[in-house]
Amino acid sequence: MQSSSVIRSSVCPHDCPSTCALEVEVLDGHRIGAVHGAADNSYTAGVICTKVARYAERIHHPDRLMHPLLRTGTKGSNQFRRIAWDEALDRVAAAFTDLAAKHGRETIWPFYYAGTMGLVQRDGINRLRHVMRYSRQNLTICTSLPEAGWHAGIGQSRGVDPREMAVSDLIVVWGGNPVSTQVNVMTHITRARKERGAKLVVVDPYRSPTAAVADMHLAPRPGTDGAVACAVMHVAFRDGYADRTYMARYADCPDALAAHLQSRGPEWAAAITGLPVQRIEEFAALYGRTRRSYIRCGYGFARSRNGAANMHAVTCLPTVTGAWQYEGGGALWSNRGMYHIDKTLIEGLDARDTRIRELDMSRIGSVLTGDRTELVDGPPVHALLIQNQNPLTVCPDSNRVRRGFSRDDLFVCVHEQFMTETARWADVVLPATMFMEHDDLYQAGGHTHIQIGPKLIEPPGECRSNHEVLQALASRLGARHPGFEMTTMQIIDATLRASGWPDAETVLRERWIDAALPFDKAHFVTGFPRTGGKFAFAPDWAAMGDAEGKMPRLPDHMPTIDESGPDRPFRLMTSPARSYLNTSFTEMPSGRKREGRPTVMLHPDDAARLGIADGAKVVLGNARGEVVLHARVVEGMQPGVLVSESIWPSEAFDGGIGINALTSDDPGPPLGGAVFHDTAVWLRAAATELLMAAE
Ligand code: SF4
Repeated sequence: MQSSSVIRSSVCPHDCPSTCALEVEVLDGHRIGAVHGAADNSYTAGVICTKVARYAERIHHPDRLMHPLLRTGTKGSNQFRRIAWDEALDRVAAAFTDLAAKHGRETIWPFYYAGTMGLVQRDGINRLRHVMRYSRQNLTICTSLPEAGWHAGIGQSRGVDPREMAVSDLIVVWGGNPVSTQVNVMTHITRARKERGAKLVVVDPYRSPTAAVADMHLAPRPGTDGAVACAVMHVAFRDGYADRTYMARYADCPDALAAHLQSRGPEWAAAITGLPVQRIEEFAALYGRTRRSYIRCGYGFARSRNGAANMHAVTCLPTVTGAWQYEGGGALWSNRGMYHIDKTLIEGLDARDTRIRELDMSRIGSVLTGDRTELVDGPPVHALLIQNQNPLTVCPDSNRVRRGFSRDDLFVCVHEQFMTETARWADVVLPATMFMEHDDLYQAGGHTHIQIGPKLIEPPGECRSNHEVLQALASRLGARHPGFEMTTMQIIDATLRASGWPDAETVLRERWIDAALPFDKAHFVTGFPRTGGKFAFAPDWAAMGDAEGKMPRLPDHMPTIDESGPDRPFRLMTSPARSYLNTSFTEMPSGRKREGRPTVMLHPDDAARLGIADGAKVVLGNARGEVVLHARVVEGMQPGVLVSESIWPSEAFDGGIGINALTSDDPGPPLGGAVFHDTAVWLRAAATELLMAAE
């Protein structure tokens, strides 16, 4: 540490449930040094991932966007010239005004997601949307499927405090890979293993870095987690692990569930999942006899057409065994529903009109290419304002998304930190701040803390925060709302007060507010947050939006996945790479070096059958597109499964087509949601490899 530097508190803003409490070495008013996890935060516990520990490499990156840019070449050509902020904002405002006059206000679609998880800089775009009556956005890309499944049985997005994993005897990481994506989970698991001899089980179709350090790894076929869960519950009823007293008090229809599960034993599940019967029996016995069993649900197993059903089935497990009632027992997917933040000021909810159409962000390709159903029979989208998202790389069916962005009659403004693929297709590009360069408010999905990350250093060049850009556009567009007249910190302070939390000054001084619920509430001892207080084995899916009756009445394997077949014999998952977070961090040389190049993992039997050597170039394809990658032959998953850790920028692939060219924008029921791990593809050696083999 340099003698003139100071340590300041901050919060990791990235789209990761850990929302780590940080300690940042601030060298002067413009630069940072080392970044560490706050040792005295009981969840972060001094541990952060290497991505953020090396944040100086990202925030001081020479490729940061520094100035507003105006497109001078054809769309996507990456030809721009520097312009002044006033000219850039005037152009955007003029385009929006003109297009709204011609096509109606719904032709403008402000588009965003979770490039930052700070509530003001992320969600403030909705204030402009609502005040201006622009098209609304259905936020389906990440949480719709798991949240529907979690809500179905439990009723609210909250679960047992993750710090209790440290006093569990069995932790099941289901459909997640915290070693790569949320390292703090491992901190608490490691404590339990060291201090109590706790077991770690991982359910994941491939041997992820987390599965590699587990005591037991179950690798079912992708999209068959509901069958695994049903078989575990079958064994619980069969072998006396089911807590009928608990269920009589806390569940809606345990007898119906028991009858339903009689035909869903390990043999049934083995045929669906590809897992050996013995493996399912072992896991079921371990889970059934362990009172303090904690399921940490990831997002992965819900990124499937049957993802909501899978999540619901898994949440039934602690209800059958009664694990919820014990310290260290129960489950957690996300605590995002526990903070009761009043977002009226941030999002302009007082100006929201639900009659204005809502467009599905996961289907942006269909929206921009004129799908009448997706446009809700309204006007085409003629203008986008994009913050915190890189849809050309991240959204499903990316070839279709690119076709949409190539429309000459579409005006696009992208406010970004780097020249992403989406920024390259913009008409106007605006340079954005990073989290240490602005203030923001954070609530943690993966634990229980509310924090404020204050501005620590001046932004480079002419970068402006999202809030500043929205203020400037609002003034040009005539959008009136108190939120546009306030500083970010004033919005944070007013929001905290309106939500019943201590004011901003107190939170800054205390560094965080632990919003953990008392044991009885967190463990649903006082009842589940649903009418009648009982967990629903038989959810009211229709009330949740399942108009077509697609969801199973009781937990089950829902056979709606993109099944493999003779023409597309593989099932592809696009699991997160350790060094990236979606496309964030892909610009860091250290992460790129660690990840190497875009690869696809395949089973040795498949490799041998197809004559594909480790490292060979292969092509994956389906009706949506073709993608070139390098093969990595690995054990630890079933034949017929492919995994491409993601998300590499498209330009890193031979041919410039990224992995989401293969994924579908089909919405998963009941409420929509992207199905990134539910893709049937074919695989063959690339032509160059075949040529070399022939020679
Ligand atoms: S583990 Fe997650 S929250 Fe923590 S520093 Fe890394 S990306 Fe940020």
